[in-house]
Amino acid sequence: KEDPRVRGIAAAIRVVPDFPKPGIMFQDITTLLLDPDAFKNTVDMFVERYTDMDISVVAGIEARGFIFGPPIALSIGAKFVPLRKPKKLPGEVISENYDLEYGSDCLQMHVGAVQPGERVLIVDDLVATGGTLRAAISLLERVGAEVVECACVIELPELKGRERLDGKPLYILVESH
Ligand code: AMP
Repeated sequence: KEDPRVRGIAAAIRVVPDFPKPGIMFQDITTLLLDPDAFKNTVDMFVERYTDMDISVVAGIEARGFIFGPPIALSIGAKFVPLRKPKKLPGEVISENYDLEYGSDCLQMHVGAVQPGERVLIVDDLVATGGTLRAAISLLERVGAEVVECACVIELPELKGRERLDGKPLYILVESH
């Protein structure tokens, strides 16, 4: 049965058609951030799920994973590791390239931020094709970490991103069709 908080979370997300280009239904979480109850419920639902799962790292994907990841990390007593776009991190990095609908992109992580065997939760706002989460999983597995789960606020199920995650569990709060 659906958690009663999900309705309010879904209602607080603004959908903007044709942004940033024609045909895209952009899921705008900035309106969720304007609603303190809905924002708190979002973080609380993740915290409740991950509190007793022995997770020592929350890895957040730039940029909107940096909004939801840190409050979860603080509440469950995990460290927060940013997965960033190229040329942002000053230390030694490892990189993972991935394909977008048009072109490609890259995520980087600081070497030494995550130790082999650490149990990691990956956080972003939304999963579409799954390419971004797939790249994040690869980065963490390359350093020997164990990816316990990926968590996003929103899933676009038609794009079947879930199937690209190499069997990793994906937990979401809201489906958008
Ligand atoms: P993907 O790699 O295709 O799963 O795309 C996920 C990434 O792109 C996430 O970091 C999202 O923030 C962003 N994204 C993709 N599609 C949308 C959309 N319709 N609305 C908002 N963000 C999106």
